[in-house]
Amino acid sequence: MTKLTNLTLASARDGLKSGEFSAVELTQAHIDAMSAHKDLNAFITDTPERALAQAKVSDAKIKSGDAGAMEGLPIGMKDLFCTEGVLTTAGSHILDNFIPPYESTVSGNLKNAGAVMLGKTNLDEFAMGSANVTSYFGNVKNPWGSNVDKDLVPGGSSGGSAAAVAGELCLAATGTDTGGSIRQPASFTGIVGLKPTYGRCSRWGVVAFASSLDQAGPMTKTVQDAAIMLQSMAGFDEKDSTSAPESLPNFEAALTGDIKGLRIGIPKEYRMDGMPEEITKLWKQGEDWLKAAGAEIVDVSLPHTKYALATYYIVAPAEASANLARYDGVRYGHRAEGELENLDDLYCKTRGQGFGEEVQRRIMIGAYVLSAGYYDAYYAKAQKVRTLIAQDFTNAYANCDVILTPTCPSAAFGIGENEDDPLKMYLNDIFTVPSSLAGLPGMSIPAGLSEGGLPLGLQLIGRAFDEETLLRVGGVLETAAGFTAKPSMIGA
Ligand code: GLN
Repeated sequence: MTKLTNLTLASARDGLKSGEFSAVELTQAHIDAMSAHKDLNAFITDTPERALAQAKVSDAKIKSGDAGAMEGLPIGMKDLFCTEGVLTTAGSHILDNFIPPYESTVSGNLKNAGAVMLGKTNLDEFAMGSANVTSYFGNVKNPWGSNVDKDLVPGGSSGGSAAAVAGELCLAATGTDTGGSIRQPASFTGIVGLKPTYGRCSRWGVVAFASSLDQAGPMTKTVQDAAIMLQSMAGFDEKDSTSAPESLPNFEAALTGDIKGLRIGIPKEYRMDGMPEEITKLWKQGEDWLKAAGAEIVDVSLPHTKYALATYYIVAPAEASANLARYDGVRYGHRAEGELENLDDLYCKTRGQGFGEEVQRRIMIGAYVLSAGYYDAYYAKAQKVRTLIAQDFTNAYANCDVILTPTCPSAAFGIGENEDDPLKMYLNDIFTVPSSLAGLPGMSIPAGLSEGGLPLGLQLIGRAFDEETLLRVGGVLETAAGFTAKPSMIGA
């Protein structure tokens, strides 16, 4: 019999349909894998009983011909999505007792489609980070560390989801991406990560970080799986005022394999000084693969790229400082105990105890750039530059259909590295942040191995609401790259 944890969403869907195995068997195989690999620390909360009960229902539905699009498929849920009756922490001490009385739209959509939730995956605190080292619940380990005998970061902030998919603890997982948090960990762990267009997936019930940037998306083993999962996650939601009233195409049908005549833009500004040779080489290789498949390669320019990180690290903290003002120890979440002088003292102690260092840093930066006297110099200026960055993409898409770039400037690094220097950490997002600021869809596809034997991703950036082209080109890139390497901890 096939090893059930080796399957993709698509092949598991087929196997369930043909009765080769049951949803309960499939779920149990993943629960076993989760307990065998606790050392990865990929999950904050496991929900095995709930998963098995759901799988039982799925088996009945499959039998009666009543199966949803993700019926019986076991997935991980980033612990940023509120899940009714299940602890939702956002990776923070301040929410470590929060059990939401409601379900986020995206997790609800997946549930309605029949997906089986195995548990809530670990993440950087409030999704702030690029290495999953800021979680109150400890670091997540990249399964690829087993190949090099070193503890590696899985990337962040959706590091638990990435590690769980790459380590075959679940068939797929949800992520959220504000400036790269789906794509960068996907690149670090050798999986596919798709950040949809801003507004494609509802933000309702997702713990807010930076509301004008946050977007949910799938983290999967293949491009086809990303299409399958996005179909169930996405859609208009009247509960989110920024949800887009766009109709949903059939994403899986977009995978035609035909990219003849498509124009692939190569932005010259992404050729950074000091970029490792292996990244440049892989990028060129990606170009060649797409050209060989019949696409046309064109040079494009995104002249404001150099301001993207600075802009992001003003806009995102500004929004975070406003969003996180709600954690006051009064309504829900952690509350400072002991002797308190007054209400201010309660706020200060609660927030001082409840938030980690990186979150506090962001709140302070955010409050600073929004304060009287600095607002115009920083926040208002950043908003203007953001518009210019978005305009760059609009101009580029006059000459191309999709843009190809590396996902990250490096492969996964060791746990503990880059931690003393926040600026170095922020550099991880250099290739993912511009498209986030422009609200455009982006996808990372595992494309090769570094000299050290670790996965490297290539990124595709599409036009707004054109995930179809992204998936079509992604499918071709995936086939050409033929990335089949796996972390050695999985075993045969
Ligand atoms: N690494 C980036 C940050 O720390 C992006 C995080 C994200 O996309 N959630 O802000």
